[in-house]
Amino acid sequence: MKKVLITGAAGFLGSHLCDRFIKEGYKVIGMDNFITGDSKNVKHLMNHSNFEFIEHDVTNFISIDGELDYILHFASPASPIDYLKIPIQTLKVGSLGTHNLLGVAKEKNARMLIASTSEIYGDPLVHPQTEDYYGNVNTIGPRGVYDEAKRFQESITMAYHRFHGVETRIVRIFNTYGPRMRLNDGRVIPAFMGQALRGEDLTIFGDGSQTRSFCYIDDQVEGIYRLLLSDYVYPVNIGNPHEISISDFAEEIIKLTNTTQKVIYKDLPVNDPMQRQPDISLARKLLGWEPKVQREEGMKITFEYFKNLTKEDLHKSEH
Ligand code: NAD
Ligand code: UDP
Repeated sequence: MKKVLITGAAGFLGSHLCDRFIKEGYKVIGMDNFITGDSKNVKHLMNHSNFEFIEHDVTNFISIDGELDYILHFASPASPIDYLKIPIQTLKVGSLGTHNLLGVAKEKNARMLIASTSEIYGDPLVHPQTEDYYGNVNTIGPRGVYDEAKRFQESITMAYHRFHGVETRIVRIFNTYGPRMRLNDGRVIPAFMGQALRGEDLTIFGDGSQTRSFCYIDDQVEGIYRLLLSDYVYPVNIGNPHEISISDFAEEIIKLTNTTQKVIYKDLPVNDPMQRQPDISLARKLLGWEPKVQREEGMKITFEYFKNLTKEDLHKSEH
């Protein structure tokens, strides 16, 4: 039985990856320190005979017993309000955490996949973003802590591959959504859905002309799974190329949720990228992958999830 270590297991993406690998018949070790995650996301796995959970901060030395085939490093704050609140931890998990995990991969002869991000392209001057674009990141801006941690993560991963021969994979994830996102994580989908559910106006940052392209979680997990098992070591974009402006998106959410609220405008956060759309030609060619879930369908499923949260969860999320 193959064994995989998944960091960030109690988070949104990490918990869905745990589910997928369990379903594929792997032995899964989930690791998390709960800094932005929630034990509820893996509660259903806790008694599974092929699942083991280790509460641990990956920026500290990591010790794993026995053999290991794969490592998926997904631990990191991922939403702007999280990484602005805990900037040093964000830099450390991308740098020290990645270094520790690459050390484990080298010792165990395991293949390691890292979760990189479309944020490494910064506020992009090339559109849509192809993997060969170097990006436009403000190193000293507030978002720099996340973007530069992820850029360093890619560099050290390639260095371990080139210098130590570690088998590595790099996925550049574009905005992904679905059940188990934290309602109060500040990202636009939980923000708008939470506001609609609480009967508040939807907050658009800036004039709403900035764009994003939203990928449903199941599509994202499928892309990551295929990339891990492929033999391609360079970065691959995984995301949904269907782009929409934030103001049009707010209208879609108003329709979907049937809210009578309106939109209100707030300041655009510093260095908020004006446009974002993945070019997924490489993923199509290499992995035979493309997203299958339309935004309308994915948003419905996600809204159902938020609707079923407790009142306490809903009101915890006001910010
Ligand atoms: P999340 O906040 O839901 O999950 C991250 C998990 O990592 C949390 O459970 C958190 O407690 C854990 N964690 C953070 N620091 C840790 C540490 N030092 N030690 C152990 N655990 C730690 O975020 P997510 O959306 O699931 O993102 C997961 C990964 O995917 C991140 O690396 C993120 O950068 C990347 N990513 C996500 C998106 C997206 O749209 N969701 C886009 C691009 C990249
Ligand atoms: N956004 C918004 N209102 C909100 C939350 C976010 O208009 O309540 C905007 C945000 O400024 C950004 C876009 O929505 O332009 C996506 O933000 P998110 O935090 O989801 O992801 P990221 O900026 O990391 O892509």
